Amino acid sequence: MQTDRSENVTPDDPHVFYLQQLSDYLLHESGEGVMLTDHQGHILAVNASFSQITGFSADEVSGKKTAILRSDHHPPEFYQQLWYNIQHKGRWQGIVWNRRKDCSVYQQSLKIRAIYDRQQAVSHYIALIRDLTLQTAEAGHHHALTTLDRLTGLGNRDMLVSRFSQQLAQSRDNCFHLYVIWIDGGQLASVNQQFGLASGDMLIQQQAQRLQQWTSGKDTLIRLYADDYIILKPAVYPAKASYFDMLVQRLAQPVCLGNHQVTVAPAVGVSCYPADGDQEEQLLYAAESAMLEAKKQGANCWCMFNTRQGQANIRRHMLKHKLTEQLQHTPDQLQLYFQPKVLMETGTICGAEALIRWQLPGEGWVSPSELISIAEESRLIISLDRWVVAEVCRIMHRYLQQNICFPLLSFNISAKQLNEHDFADWLSNCLANWGIKGHQLEMEVTESAFIDNEMEAIKLLRSLQQSGLRIALDDFGTGYSSLSYLKDMPLNTVKIDRSLISDITTNQRAQCIVRNLRMLATDLQLSLVVEGVETTEQHQLLRQLGCQRAQGYYFARPLPGTEFVAMLG
Ligand code: C2E
Ligand code: CA
Ligand code: CA
Repeated sequence: MQTDRSENVTPDDPHVFYLQQLSDYLLHESGEGVMLTDHQGHILAVNASFSQITGFSADEVSGKKTAILRSDHHPPEFYQQLWYNIQHKGRWQGIVWNRRKDCSVYQQSLKIRAIYDRQQAVSHYIALIRDLTLQTAEAGHHHALTTLDRLTGLGNRDMLVSRFSQQLAQSRDNCFHLYVIWIDGGQLASVNQQFGLASGDMLIQQQAQRLQQWTSGKDTLIRLYADDYIILKPAVYPAKASYFDMLVQRLAQPVCLGNHQVTVAPAVGVSCYPADGDQEEQLLYAAESAMLEAKKQGANCWCMFNTRQGQANIRRHMLKHKLTEQLQHTPDQLQLYFQPKVLMETGTICGAEALIRWQLPGEGWVSPSELISIAEESRLIISLDRWVVAEVCRIMHRYLQQNICFPLLSFNISAKQLNEHDFADWLSNCLANWGIKGHQLEMEVTESAFIDNEMEAIKLLRSLQQSGLRIALDDFGTGYSSLSYLKDMPLNTVKIDRSLISDITTNQRAQCIVRNLRMLATDLQLSLVVEGVETTEQHQLLRQLGCQRAQGYYFARPLPGTEFVAMLG
């Protein structure tokens, strides 16, 4: 210690003498700063590393309260919590922003321990300090090559991953806010198109420079991809709107690219720990969806994530991400349920519809409608539908091997799938792989499959039908339900939508429509299935109207494969 309190001690006991020398040596050599205070927090002694880290010599701090080291980066509650821990547990450890002699603020890891006298009263406190900026600098040097973006010298995605968890943990420990700021520079695509890729690179470099000048040492700034950047900004107090106004203004200033001056239109989205989530993924989704909202609002905007709509977007985003992950490998959260179709007269099962089910750990069941609508927003629906078909074939194959005879199985296909030029080939390969014949399956399509490209759809369905596959028109009675589809489309089955069935016992018109559809189907030699039968009354009435096949909760809900097979008897 750099005081003369402990020097010149010549204790009688040689052990104490040696221990004294040992502790002096360790304190001197230790890279950690050491500070001893009395029970009221007056500094009694510090070692050389303490002086190196803080800039204060032993004389300058001797007798002073530790408050001279404090920065204004922590709210009073932070220190209350710290002292509460020391008083009750005798120790505290965490990360603290402190102030050096030259007033610069730095981050240190701090361990404080109470020392008790024989009466168990606190007599001293000892603190061990490690300068984290040095550590970060060293670590940064090693990782520089892998965590820096080559074009701009900013951090890259890898840096974001490693820094995000650190900064989040620090914010958690210290009751900070952590702002996640997602910046879309704007205009990159059109600059690339108009002036070439080199100009696009220049634009990115200049934006990166502006952002670098804008951020402070505590912030993490990275380029995510293209002209999208992320800033992680720890803050003791909530950030002011003017901070984001100025950020947008700064970025929106025209950029010189050689001889051209370009106006850019940045969009900035902001989320904040803890208000908008406490996980990295959540906060990034939130910031991105706020950025997309800002984009919608027009040029040069920033948006804070806080709307209910935003929460819904986050969920969609999260589900989309998880679904993508599921479909990249063999899905372990997706499964098929089977809902029987029955002959109403005898109750015999004459078929079943395969329906997707998704159980998401921690979230529960995701409704099929939500799942399908998310998948339909992108090409995920293509993979999803194909997974369903392959799974239907796999399950059917397994039971057939056990000599369990399956009735006709139907699966749903999105309209988008029918636009895939390789779908017919893919399907016939899939059936061949599992040894399934076309006539064992029925494909349910809705009329939306025909709306965009009627001629192509007719061609495709006809070729599939020729290979034996049956085609069903699903949800008939909703939407446009054009009779011309019944006239022109190669169909085997029509399924009457449950909206026509729900009030059929009281609605004369619904009865009339169903009766006539039944006759029409008979004349067109189409099989007719009535969906959504829920009650005995509906069942009886539909039989009187001459309907033969039906599907609905009255007979059975969609069931897991094993339960469905058990029903087959
Ligand atoms: P859908 O093709 O019309 O399937 C029938 C839906 O009606 C199923 O809902 C089924 O559970 C429900 N249902 C059956 N009987 C009754 C009843 O008596 N009362 C009521 N209220 N509902 C009944 P689910 O499983 O939630 O599926 C909803 C929709 O999601 C399906 O409607 C279909 O459009 C889509 N879908 C489900 N699985 C798949 C799939 O594997 N691929 C594709 N592309 N879409 C699927
Ligand atoms: Ca269906
Ligand atoms: Ca349907």
